[in-house]
Amino acid sequence: MKKTDGKKFSALVLSLMMAGSTVLCSCTKSDSEDKDSAKTETTAATTVTETTTEATTEATTTTEATETTTLSAREASPYEEITLDGVKEHHFIATDYCYIETEKCFIFMEKDIEIPGDFAIVLDAIIVEIENELGISATPDDRNYFDVADMSVHYGFNPWEGWDIGNKIPVFLYVDHEEEGLISNACEDFCILAMWELFSDEFWNSVPSYVERSDARRDYVDYAEVAHEITHTITLRNCYLTDILAEGVADYMGRLVIDALADQYPSIAEVQEDRFLFDYMIPEVVNADNAERIFVEDYHDLSAADRGAEYVYGRYLCQFLEEEYGDDFYRQMNDKIKSKQLEYSSYNYDEAVAAQYAEALKEVFGDDVFTKFGKWCVSNHALQELGGWFPMD
Ligand SMILES: [Zn+2]
Repeated sequence: MKKTDGKKFSALVLSLMMAGSTVLCSCTKSDSEDKDSAKTETTAATTVTETTTEATTEATTTTEATETTTLSAREASPYEEITLDGVKEHHFIATDYCYIETEKCFIFMEKDIEIPGDFAIVLDAIIVEIENELGISATPDDRNYFDVADMSVHYGFNPWEGWDIGNKIPVFLYVDHEEEGLISNACEDFCILAMWELFSDEFWNSVPSYVERSDARRDYVDYAEVAHEITHTITLRNCYLTDILAEGVADYMGRLVIDALADQYPSIAEVQEDRFLFDYMIPEVVNADNAERIFVEDYHDLSAADRGAEYVYGRYLCQFLEEEYGDDFYRQMNDKIKSKQLEYSSYNYDEAVAAQYAEALKEVFGDDVFTKFGKWCVSNHALQELGGWFPMD
Protein backbone atom coordinates (compact mmCIF):
# COMPACT_ATOMS: atom_id res chain seq x y z
CA MET A 1 0.00 0.00 0.00
CA LYS A 2 2.74 2.34 0.99
CA LYS A 3 4.37 2.03 -2.36
CA THR A 4 1.24 2.52 -4.39
CA ASP A 5 0.24 5.61 -2.49
CA GLY A 6 3.62 7.11 -3.12
CA LYS A 7 3.32 6.46 -6.81
CA LYS A 8 -0.11 7.97 -6.92
CA PHE A 9 1.46 11.13 -5.66
CA SER A 10 4.10 10.80 -8.32
CA ALA A 11 1.46 10.30 -11.00
CA LEU A 12 -0.32 13.37 -9.78
CA VAL A 13 2.89 15.32 -9.88
CA LEU A 14 3.52 14.27 -13.44
CA SER A 15 0.03 14.89 -14.59
CA LEU A 16 -0.03 18.35 -13.12
CA MET A 17 3.36 19.31 -14.37
CA MET A 18 2.09 20.73 -17.59
CA ALA A 19 -0.15 23.11 -15.77
CA GLY A 20 2.75 24.14 -13.59
CA SER A 21 5.09 24.89 -16.43
CA THR A 22 2.37 26.86 -18.16
CA VAL A 23 2.54 29.43 -15.43
CA LEU A 24 6.24 29.41 -14.92
CA CYS A 25 7.84 29.21 -18.32
CA SER A 26 7.77 32.88 -19.22
CA CYS A 27 10.61 34.07 -17.06
CA THR A 28 13.52 36.49 -17.03
CA LYS A 29 13.50 37.56 -20.65
CA SER A 30 13.43 41.24 -19.71
CA ASP A 31 17.05 41.28 -18.65
CA SER A 32 18.38 40.49 -22.09
CA GLU A 33 19.15 44.01 -23.22
CA ASP A 34 21.20 44.81 -20.14
CA LYS A 35 23.16 41.65 -20.55
CA ASP A 36 23.93 42.18 -24.22
CA SER A 37 25.40 45.59 -23.66
CA ALA A 38 27.30 44.31 -20.64
CA LYS A 39 29.35 41.76 -22.55
CA THR A 40 31.74 44.30 -24.04
CA GLU A 41 33.24 45.77 -20.90
CA THR A 42 35.35 42.89 -19.65
CA THR A 43 38.38 45.10 -18.90
CA ALA A 44 36.64 46.63 -15.90
CA ALA A 45 36.86 43.30 -14.11
CA THR A 46 39.53 43.98 -11.50
CA THR A 47 38.19 47.29 -10.36
CA VAL A 48 34.64 46.20 -10.02
CA THR A 49 35.62 43.11 -8.10
CA GLU A 50 36.44 45.42 -5.24
CA THR A 51 33.21 47.37 -5.48
CA THR A 52 31.34 48.33 -2.39
CA THR A 53 27.99 46.98 -1.32
CA GLU A 54 26.41 50.14 -2.61
CA ALA A 55 27.52 49.36 -6.14
CA THR A 56 26.63 45.72 -6.02
CA THR A 57 23.06 46.26 -5.00
CA GLU A 58 22.59 47.89 -8.39
CA ALA A 59 23.93 44.87 -10.18
CA THR A 60 20.82 44.21 -12.22
CA THR A 61 20.49 47.67 -13.63
CA THR A 62 24.10 48.64 -14.32
CA THR A 63 26.01 47.65 -17.42
CA GLU A 64 29.21 46.47 -15.75
CA ALA A 65 31.14 43.53 -17.11
CA THR A 66 29.26 40.25 -16.88
CA GLU A 67 31.79 38.41 -14.74
CA THR A 68 32.09 41.26 -12.30
CA THR A 69 28.37 41.46 -11.84
CA THR A 70 28.41 37.77 -10.93
CA LEU A 71 31.13 38.17 -8.34
CA SER A 72 29.60 41.28 -6.93
CA ALA A 73 26.10 39.92 -6.56
CA ARG A 74 27.34 36.73 -5.00
CA GLU A 75 29.88 38.46 -2.80
CA ALA A 76 27.25 40.82 -1.52
CA SER A 77 24.86 37.97 -0.86
CA PRO A 78 24.24 37.18 2.80
CA TYR A 79 23.45 33.58 1.89
CA GLU A 80 25.92 30.82 2.44
CA GLU A 81 27.53 28.58 -0.12
CA ILE A 82 27.26 24.99 1.03
CA THR A 83 29.59 22.12 0.25
CA LEU A 84 28.40 18.56 0.69
CA ASP A 85 30.73 15.75 1.69
CA GLY A 86 29.33 13.26 -0.82
CA VAL A 87 28.19 10.79 1.82
CA LYS A 88 24.58 9.75 1.28
CA GLU A 89 23.94 9.17 4.97
CA HIS A 90 25.12 12.65 5.97
CA HIS A 91 22.20 15.01 5.55
CA PHE A 92 22.36 18.75 5.16
CA ILE A 93 19.42 20.74 6.52
CA ALA A 94 19.00 24.34 5.38
CA THR A 95 18.21 26.89 8.07
CA ASP A 96 18.12 29.84 5.66
CA TYR A 97 18.53 30.52 1.94
CA CYS A 98 21.73 28.89 0.74
CA TYR A 99 23.18 27.37 -2.40
CA ILE A 100 25.53 24.80 -3.85
CA GLU A 101 27.54 25.34 -7.00
CA THR A 102 28.33 22.17 -8.92
CA GLU A 103 30.00 21.53 -12.24
CA LYS A 104 26.68 21.65 -14.03
CA CYS A 105 24.26 23.65 -11.95
CA PHE A 106 23.45 25.87 -9.01
CA ILE A 107 21.22 24.33 -6.39
CA PHE A 108 19.23 27.04 -4.62
CA MET A 109 17.73 26.07 -1.30
CA GLU A 110 15.51 27.60 1.33
CA LYS A 111 14.85 26.93 4.99
CA ASP A 112 13.70 23.36 5.82
CA ILE A 113 15.21 21.70 2.77
CA GLU A 114 17.01 18.50 3.66
CA ILE A 115 19.30 16.77 1.18
CA PRO A 116 21.59 13.77 1.39
CA GLY A 117 25.32 14.39 1.11
CA ASP A 118 25.55 12.84 -2.36
CA PHE A 119 22.73 14.96 -3.81
CA ALA A 120 24.95 17.31 -5.82
CA ILE A 121 27.13 14.50 -7.16
CA VAL A 122 24.12 12.49 -8.26
CA LEU A 123 22.48 15.53 -9.84
CA ASP A 124 25.56 16.26 -11.93
CA ALA A 125 25.83 12.60 -12.93
CA ILE A 126 22.21 12.70 -14.10
CA ILE A 127 22.82 15.79 -16.21
CA VAL A 128 25.89 14.27 -17.84
CA GLU A 129 24.01 11.05 -18.51
CA ILE A 130 21.10 12.91 -20.13
CA GLU A 131 23.52 14.81 -22.35
CA ASN A 132 25.19 11.57 -23.36
CA GLU A 133 22.00 9.65 -23.94
CA LEU A 134 20.38 12.41 -26.00
CA GLY A 135 23.54 13.61 -27.74
CA ILE A 136 22.79 17.25 -26.95
CA SER A 137 24.45 19.76 -24.65
CA ALA A 138 22.90 21.17 -21.50
CA THR A 139 24.67 24.41 -22.39
CA PRO A 140 24.16 25.05 -26.10
CA ASP A 141 26.37 27.93 -27.34
CA ASP A 142 23.69 29.52 -29.47
CA ARG A 143 21.53 30.38 -26.53
CA ASN A 144 21.42 33.47 -24.31
CA TYR A 145 21.73 32.85 -20.60
CA PHE A 146 20.05 35.31 -18.30
CA ASP A 147 20.34 36.16 -14.63
CA VAL A 148 18.82 33.65 -12.24
CA ALA A 149 15.07 33.76 -12.62
CA ASP A 150 13.14 35.87 -10.15
CA MET A 151 11.17 33.45 -7.99
CA SER A 152 9.54 36.11 -5.81
CA VAL A 153 6.22 34.41 -6.43
CA HIS A 154 7.43 31.62 -4.19
CA TYR A 155 9.92 33.35 -1.90
CA GLY A 156 8.13 36.67 -1.44
CA PHE A 157 11.30 38.44 -2.62
CA ASN A 158 14.25 37.55 -4.80
CA PRO A 159 17.11 36.10 -2.74
CA TRP A 160 19.23 35.65 -5.86
CA GLU A 161 18.68 39.01 -7.48
CA GLY A 162 21.30 39.95 -10.03
CA TRP A 163 23.05 36.58 -9.93
CA ASP A 164 24.63 35.63 -13.19
CA ILE A 165 25.52 31.94 -13.07
CA GLY A 166 26.62 31.71 -16.68
CA ASN A 167 25.23 28.69 -18.46
CA LYS A 168 24.77 26.47 -15.41
CA ILE A 169 21.26 25.21 -14.73
CA PRO A 170 19.46 26.85 -11.80
CA VAL A 171 17.77 24.14 -9.76
CA PHE A 172 15.43 25.46 -7.06
CA LEU A 173 14.53 23.19 -4.17
CA TYR A 174 11.20 24.34 -2.77
CA VAL A 175 9.58 23.61 0.55
CA ASP A 176 5.81 23.82 0.49
CA HIS A 177 5.55 25.77 3.72
CA GLU A 178 2.05 27.00 2.98
CA GLU A 179 0.68 23.61 1.85
CA GLU A 180 -0.16 24.99 -1.56
CA GLY A 181 0.32 21.65 -3.29
CA LEU A 182 3.50 22.78 -5.02
CA ILE A 183 4.77 20.43 -7.70
CA SER A 184 8.01 19.99 -9.55
CA ASN A 185 8.22 21.62 -12.96
CA ALA A 186 10.74 23.00 -15.38
CA CYS A 187 11.27 25.22 -18.39
CA GLU A 188 14.29 26.19 -20.46
CA ASP A 189 15.45 28.68 -17.84
CA PHE A 190 15.24 26.67 -14.64
CA CYS A 191 14.12 23.57 -12.86
CA ILE A 192 12.01 23.48 -9.69
CA LEU A 193 11.96 20.43 -7.46
CA ALA A 194 9.14 20.43 -4.92
CA MET A 195 9.43 16.94 -3.45
CA TRP A 196 8.16 15.81 -0.07
CA GLU A 197 11.30 13.78 0.58
CA LEU A 198 13.37 16.97 0.35
CA PHE A 199 11.44 18.64 3.16
CA SER A 200 13.26 18.23 6.46
CA ASP A 201 11.85 15.67 8.89
CA GLU A 202 11.56 18.35 11.51
CA PHE A 203 9.45 20.57 9.26
CA TRP A 204 7.36 17.66 8.00
CA ASN A 205 6.59 16.49 11.51
CA SER A 206 5.56 19.99 12.57
CA VAL A 207 2.66 20.09 10.11
CA PRO A 208 -0.26 17.81 11.07
CA SER A 209 -1.65 17.52 7.54
CA TYR A 210 1.72 16.35 6.27
CA VAL A 211 2.12 13.88 9.11
CA GLU A 212 -1.21 12.33 8.12
CA ARG A 213 0.20 11.67 4.66
CA SER A 214 3.53 10.26 5.83
CA ASP A 215 2.85 6.88 4.20
CA ALA A 216 3.05 8.55 0.80
CA ARG A 217 6.37 10.21 1.53
CA ARG A 218 9.49 8.45 0.31
CA ASP A 219 12.49 7.95 2.55
CA TYR A 220 14.83 8.40 -0.44
CA VAL A 221 15.10 10.94 -3.23
CA ASP A 222 13.18 10.01 -6.35
CA TYR A 223 15.90 10.73 -8.87
CA ALA A 224 13.59 9.58 -11.68
CA GLU A 225 11.52 12.70 -11.04
CA VAL A 226 14.71 14.76 -10.88
CA ALA A 227 15.88 13.31 -14.21
CA HIS A 228 12.46 14.03 -15.74
CA GLU A 229 12.57 17.70 -14.81
CA ILE A 230 16.20 18.22 -15.70
CA THR A 231 15.53 16.65 -19.09
CA HIS A 232 12.92 19.35 -19.72
CA THR A 233 15.42 22.11 -19.09
CA ILE A 234 18.17 20.50 -21.18
CA THR A 235 15.95 19.68 -24.15
CA LEU A 236 14.10 23.01 -24.13
CA ARG A 237 17.37 24.92 -23.99
CA ASN A 238 18.04 23.33 -27.38
CA CYS A 239 14.68 23.56 -29.15
CA TYR A 240 10.94 23.87 -28.68
CA LEU A 241 9.04 20.60 -28.46
CA THR A 242 5.44 19.47 -28.72
CA ASP A 243 3.89 18.17 -25.51
CA ILE A 244 4.28 14.57 -26.65
CA LEU A 245 7.94 15.06 -27.46
CA ALA A 246 8.69 17.13 -24.34
CA GLU A 247 6.98 14.86 -21.84
CA GLY A 248 7.88 11.73 -23.76
CA VAL A 249 11.61 12.30 -23.73
CA ALA A 250 11.48 13.47 -20.10
CA ASP A 251 9.67 10.31 -19.05
CA TYR A 252 11.96 8.19 -21.20
CA MET A 253 15.02 9.71 -19.50
CA GLY A 254 13.35 9.33 -16.12
CA ARG A 255 13.59 5.57 -16.65
CA LEU A 256 16.69 5.23 -18.77
CA VAL A 257 18.96 7.38 -16.61
CA ILE A 258 18.03 5.35 -13.54
CA ASP A 259 18.88 2.11 -15.33
CA ALA A 260 22.12 3.55 -16.69
CA LEU A 261 23.43 4.88 -13.37
CA ALA A 262 22.09 2.36 -10.85
CA ASP A 263 25.34 0.38 -10.81
CA GLN A 264 27.45 3.42 -9.99
CA TYR A 265 25.26 5.24 -7.48
CA PRO A 266 23.58 3.47 -4.55
CA SER A 267 21.05 6.31 -4.30
CA ILE A 268 19.94 5.62 -7.85
CA ALA A 269 19.94 1.85 -7.34
CA GLU A 270 17.49 2.48 -4.53
CA VAL A 271 15.12 4.26 -6.91
CA GLN A 272 15.43 1.48 -9.47
CA GLU A 273 14.66 -1.14 -6.86
CA ASP A 274 11.61 0.58 -5.45
CA ARG A 275 10.06 2.16 -8.51
CA PHE A 276 6.71 1.08 -9.79
CA LEU A 277 6.47 1.42 -13.54
CA PHE A 278 3.14 1.92 -15.20
CA ASP A 279 1.53 3.60 -18.19
CA TYR A 280 -0.99 6.39 -17.91
CA MET A 281 -4.46 6.13 -19.36
CA ILE A 282 -4.86 6.96 -23.02
CA PRO A 283 -8.06 8.07 -24.75
CA GLU A 284 -7.53 5.89 -27.85
CA VAL A 285 -5.55 2.78 -28.74
CA VAL A 286 -2.64 3.58 -31.08
CA ASN A 287 -2.08 1.77 -34.39
CA ALA A 288 -0.64 2.34 -37.85
CA ASP A 289 -3.75 4.21 -39.01
CA ASN A 290 -3.93 6.83 -36.30
CA ALA A 291 -0.40 7.21 -34.91
CA GLU A 292 0.41 10.31 -36.97
CA ARG A 293 -2.95 11.99 -36.39
CA ILE A 294 -2.60 11.53 -32.63
CA PHE A 295 0.95 12.88 -32.76
CA VAL A 296 -0.27 16.01 -34.52
CA GLU A 297 -3.25 16.45 -32.19
CA ASP A 298 -0.75 16.22 -29.32
CA TYR A 299 -3.59 15.43 -26.89
CA HIS A 300 -4.11 19.18 -26.74
CA ASP A 301 -7.81 18.86 -25.96
CA LEU A 302 -7.41 16.57 -22.94
CA SER A 303 -8.45 18.32 -19.78
CA ALA A 304 -5.78 18.95 -17.15
CA ALA A 305 -7.35 16.29 -14.96
CA ASP A 306 -6.73 13.63 -17.62
CA ARG A 307 -3.18 14.59 -18.52
CA GLY A 308 -0.80 11.74 -18.89
CA ALA A 309 -1.40 10.36 -22.39
CA GLU A 310 1.31 12.60 -23.85
CA TYR A 311 3.84 11.18 -21.39
CA VAL A 312 3.20 7.58 -22.29
CA TYR A 313 2.76 8.07 -26.07
CA GLY A 314 5.95 10.14 -26.14
CA ARG A 315 7.95 7.68 -24.06
CA TYR A 316 7.02 4.78 -26.31
CA LEU A 317 7.80 6.90 -29.35
CA CYS A 318 11.30 7.53 -27.99
CA GLN A 319 11.74 3.85 -27.20
CA PHE A 320 10.63 2.92 -30.71
CA LEU A 321 12.86 5.52 -32.38
CA GLU A 322 15.88 4.35 -30.45
CA GLU A 323 15.23 0.69 -31.22
CA GLU A 324 14.50 1.31 -34.87
CA TYR A 325 16.88 4.14 -35.78
CA GLY A 326 19.64 3.93 -33.19
CA ASP A 327 21.12 5.76 -30.22
CA ASP A 328 21.51 8.98 -32.14
CA PHE A 329 17.78 9.39 -32.79
CA TYR A 330 17.23 12.29 -30.43
CA ARG A 331 20.14 14.40 -31.63
CA GLN A 332 19.00 13.94 -35.23
CA MET A 333 15.47 14.95 -34.35
CA ASN A 334 16.69 17.89 -32.25
CA ASP A 335 18.93 19.15 -35.05
CA LYS A 336 16.12 18.93 -37.59
CA ILE A 337 13.67 20.82 -35.37
CA LYS A 338 16.32 23.46 -34.74
CA SER A 339 17.19 23.83 -38.41
CA LYS A 340 13.53 24.27 -39.28
CA GLN A 341 13.20 26.79 -36.42
CA LEU A 342 10.00 25.23 -35.21
CA GLU A 343 8.33 26.96 -32.30
CA TYR A 344 5.54 25.03 -30.68
CA SER A 345 3.53 26.53 -27.89
CA SER A 346 1.47 24.18 -25.78
CA TYR A 347 -0.54 27.12 -24.46
CA ASN A 348 -1.67 28.08 -27.90
CA TYR A 349 -2.10 24.86 -29.86
CA ASP A 350 -1.65 25.28 -33.59
CA GLU A 351 -2.29 22.21 -35.72
CA ALA A 352 -0.16 23.52 -38.58
CA VAL A 353 2.85 23.90 -36.30
CA ALA A 354 2.32 20.48 -34.75
CA ALA A 355 2.16 19.02 -38.27
CA GLN A 356 5.55 20.55 -39.02
CA TYR A 357 7.01 18.48 -36.20
CA ALA A 358 5.52 15.37 -37.79
CA GLU A 359 7.14 16.39 -41.08
CA ALA A 360 10.47 16.92 -39.31
CA LEU A 361 10.33 13.37 -37.96
CA LYS A 362 9.49 12.04 -41.41
CA GLU A 363 12.40 13.91 -42.94
CA VAL A 364 14.76 12.37 -40.42
CA PHE A 365 13.38 8.83 -40.13
CA GLY A 366 11.38 8.33 -43.33
CA ASP A 367 7.81 8.94 -44.48
CA ASP A 368 6.66 5.70 -42.89
CA VAL A 369 7.90 6.53 -39.39
CA PHE A 370 4.41 6.86 -37.92
CA THR A 371 2.92 3.81 -39.59
CA LYS A 372 5.92 1.82 -38.42
CA PHE A 373 5.45 3.20 -34.92
CA GLY A 374 1.77 2.23 -34.93
CA LYS A 375 2.64 -1.33 -35.99
CA TRP A 376 5.38 -1.47 -33.37
CA CYS A 377 2.86 -0.40 -30.71
CA VAL A 378 0.47 -3.18 -31.65
CA SER A 379 3.15 -5.86 -31.71
CA ASN A 380 4.70 -4.68 -28.43
CA HIS A 381 1.40 -4.19 -26.66
CA ALA A 382 2.29 -0.53 -26.16
CA LEU A 383 -0.50 2.07 -26.00
CA GLN A 384 -3.10 -0.69 -26.31
CA GLU A 385 -4.83 -0.37 -22.92
CA LEU A 386 -7.19 2.57 -22.42
CA GLY A 387 -7.26 2.14 -18.67
CA GLY A 388 -3.53 2.32 -18.26
CA TRP A 389 -1.03 -0.49 -18.19
CA PHE A 390 0.66 -2.05 -15.21
CA PRO A 391 3.29 -4.50 -16.40
CA MET A 392 4.29 -7.04 -13.76
CA ASP A 393 8.07 -6.72 -14.10
ZN1 LIG B 1 7.30 16.81 -17.51
